[in-house]
Amino acid sequence: MKATNLILIGPPGSGKGTQAELLREKNGFVHYSTGEVFRDHIARRTPVGLDVEEYVTSGRLVPDEVVLQVVNAFVAEHAGKPTLFDGFPRTIPQAKGLDKVLAEYRVIVDMAVLVDLPDDEVVKRLTARRQCRKCSKIYNLSFKPSKVAGVCDDCGGELYQRKDDSEETIRDRLAVYHQQTEPVLLYYSEQGKLERVAGELGRDRVYQEILKLIA
Ligand code: ADP
Ligand code: ZN
Repeated sequence: MKATNLILIGPPGSGKGTQAELLREKNGFVHYSTGEVFRDHIARRTPVGLDVEEYVTSGRLVPDEVVLQVVNAFVAEHAGKPTLFDGFPRTIPQAKGLDKVLAEYRVIVDMAVLVDLPDDEVVKRLTARRQCRKCSKIYNLSFKPSKVAGVCDDCGGELYQRKDDSEETIRDRLAVYHQQTEPVLLYYSEQGKLERVAGELGRDRVYQEILKLIA
């Protein structure tokens, strides 16, 4: 496998988390989602969790220093393993911070894959998104419902709507994405590392496209 440190970028709801899970299960990547890490800290009421809660529930970006602090700890533990960064980096300082910490372990970002999706489709998908409280599995009321409404197929946990998946917050998250994260695309394309996949293709075809890119 050519790409060992892979970044998945895309608007909220583009399906990058789903792809990251597939690549973890089938291709042995470590899946590192900063969003999941923060939600876990919030649920456990850790100092980091208390720090970031306000940002995460309102859909604003957590300050770069806090993000880089948790990412640096992750890299220190897992450097050298094939890793998928999902939802990170989202700003130029984060991208530069990642390059810096990876360099300490003599590795680099091999490729950044943009899973793209138009804004209207993002809103449609996210307002129908539900997540398991226990195992974090993602469902969608319109195209991937659970067998029993409100109950996780895998673990029986309760399905809930994330606070940041309300339409108003989704619009805010999209604005943040266009302003702060799109420059990160340019950062990687200038280095010849950016690839694009259309998120509308749906889960299986997007996965096939990503496999081709990293083969
Ligand atoms: P989505 O990609 O659907 O927005 P995530 O689970 O990736 O959802 O992120 C949820 C929230 O966690 C974000 O809205 C933000 O508040 C915070 N967050 C996650 N990753 C980052 C990051 N790299 N930088 C700043 N904030 C982040
Ligand atoms: Zn579950």
